[in-house]
Amino acid sequence: MIHALSVDLEDWFHGDLLRGLVPQHERVPQVREAVRPLIDLFERAGVRATFFTVGEVARDHPDLLRELAAAGHEIACHTMTHPNLWRLTPDDLRDELEQYHEAIERAVPGVDVLGFRAPMFSIDRRTAWALGVLRDGGFRYDSSVVPAWTPAYGVRGAPLDVYHASLRDPGRVDAEEGLLELPLTACAFGPLRVPTAGGVYLRLYPFPLFRALLRRAARTRPLVLYVHPWETYAGTPRYPLAPWYKFGLYTNARHALGRLERLLQEFSFAPVRDVLGV
Ligand SMILES: [Zn+2]
Repeated sequence: MIHALSVDLEDWFHGDLLRGLVPQHERVPQVREAVRPLIDLFERAGVRATFFTVGEVARDHPDLLRELAAAGHEIACHTMTHPNLWRLTPDDLRDELEQYHEAIERAVPGVDVLGFRAPMFSIDRRTAWALGVLRDGGFRYDSSVVPAWTPAYGVRGAPLDVYHASLRDPGRVDAEEGLLELPLTACAFGPLRVPTAGGVYLRLYPFPLFRALLRRAARTRPLVLYVHPWETYAGTPRYPLAPWYKFGLYTNARHALGRLERLLQEFSFAPVRDVLGV
């Protein structure tokens, strides 16, 4: 079985908590340095991934995007400015996508962008309209649905494996009209769903537990892992936030790369497009 490896390529200030807090003059870009250890790790492991890229990163670091494309990584869309979709209208999203395509086309002319991931996994029943905007915009797949309840996001009861998501309800299957959806990994224990998709879960769960959950999920379906450059990089600024938020953003960042490396040794990973065969 081949599993999907993805990086949400954004800077440390793009995340939902920091986006509204960090003033413009404090937004010192760091994404080039922060993503380097991941690029090197993937090269050492002989693995390629999907980089869901924020358009601002492509605009400001076109050579980084060209390097990723030349190395065989997939370039996909993570909007232009990283707003979560709950705040947007359909026209706002279309505008974000248009700006994104302009930025990416300038950085990597001719690149074929097939996939989308919403900032903060913000495709759920409130933002079902987004799937239609993506389909009409030419996207072949979405990978934003977390099929579990969490305090911040998630689609209760959504399928755990690849499905065609209904344009009216991303938690339901519509094999004819729906958009191809690769949900982030979650494990089911009866009615309980445990999100297990990398990032914050890779850092906060005890690693043996995290790995055991992945092994369990991988018996029946492709894993879908994500990671952010800022959560695997020692130099990420520690912004003054409430203790709970700091805990979520920065805990175990120093262990994240090593844990990821062990997973790359155990499972076979590829870009999303290869897992879906699109
Ligand atoms: Zn993001």
